[in-house]
Amino acid sequence: MTDPATATSLRDAQGRSISYLRLSLTDRCNFRCSYCSPLSLEHHEDPLTRPEVARLTGIFARLGVRRVRLTGGEPTLRRDLVEIVRDVASCPGIEEVALTTNGQTLAELAGPLRAAGAGRINISLDTLDPARLLALSGRAASLERITAGIAAAGAAGFASVKLNVVVLGGVNDDEVGALARFGWRHGAIVRFIELMPFGRGEPVPLAEVKRRLAAQGIRLEPDGSRGWGPAYHMRGFCEGGPPGGGLLGFIGAMTENFCDGCNRIRVAADGSLRACLGGRDQVSLKSLLRDGSADEAIGARIVEALGRKADRHEMGAAGGQLLPMVGTGG
Ligand code: SAM
Ligand code: SF4
Repeated sequence: MTDPATATSLRDAQGRSISYLRLSLTDRCNFRCSYCSPLSLEHHEDPLTRPEVARLTGIFARLGVRRVRLTGGEPTLRRDLVEIVRDVASCPGIEEVALTTNGQTLAELAGPLRAAGAGRINISLDTLDPARLLALSGRAASLERITAGIAAAGAAGFASVKLNVVVLGGVNDDEVGALARFGWRHGAIVRFIELMPFGRGEPVPLAEVKRRLAAQGIRLEPDGSRGWGPAYHMRGFCEGGPPGGGLLGFIGAMTENFCDGCNRIRVAADGSLRACLGGRDQVSLKSLLRDGSADEAIGARIVEALGRKADRHEMGAAGGQLLPMVGTGG
């Protein structure tokens, strides 16, 4: 297979360059966020083992992937998470490893994860109200613990700390201004995400989120900076906010051009390749990893699946047939 240094970029059927892998390490979660988690997930998948994750990362890197985000379910539930981060970070060709977490155990883990080579971290935080958090994410979720996790991430020296907020009508749409200010106080960029139809909740289009921010005292100006993902940024100004304004991210999964610049591919907690979060095409990479298939054969199946990738997700039309987010990993 190709040397990572000379790998040409991996492309999908639409000619988009695919350089970013989102890899779900488990479909287990200590939270029960209503928009993500099915009411009962009785069967849990047998996830990829640490050596399988390392091997698969190498295959993707040789195809042209440069960035890996480890997600879940809740990735911090994996006891071998720090070792997995170390393996992925040391894989030739991989330039950056990031993590998405609910933050509950980050106070203890932020330092070891950073030391193992994680460069960026996203933490989900939808509300600053403990009673709302309990209703939204279940009994295990503690605002105190998540806040301690965010502070620990800030102190650990990650290149970026971002806070993911899924905006839900009648639940947290009156808190978007407070969440933006909270993020800035903690040196983090808050990203507002439109609800995708994986669980329960009332979607709030980004245009409305921006109106709410203005009504809650945050004046927005365009900002051209982009990260690796589908988020675009605006600069927010408010009394007592960062001098020169603070960045805010916006992910319009349902009402904006979310798919246009898609640069990603996903491996779900069951070890299946999902070229699109909102599609239904799956290839079991786990079976190939376990049946003696060579790296080249697995790489060929990945290229083949990308050759079938549609130009847009089908989430608006899928009507309950989507695979649960808790297994796919966002
Ligand atoms: N457990 C980790 C966490 O919550 O950050 C990682 C996995 S979670 C599936 C990844 C991201 O997907 C989180 O930021 C979460 O808010 C987001 N997410 C989950 N369900 C969603 C939905 N229905 N619509 C939009 N975003 C969703
Ligand atoms: Fe768990 Fe994250 Fe889904 Fe919440 S969003 S249920 S923390 S996987």
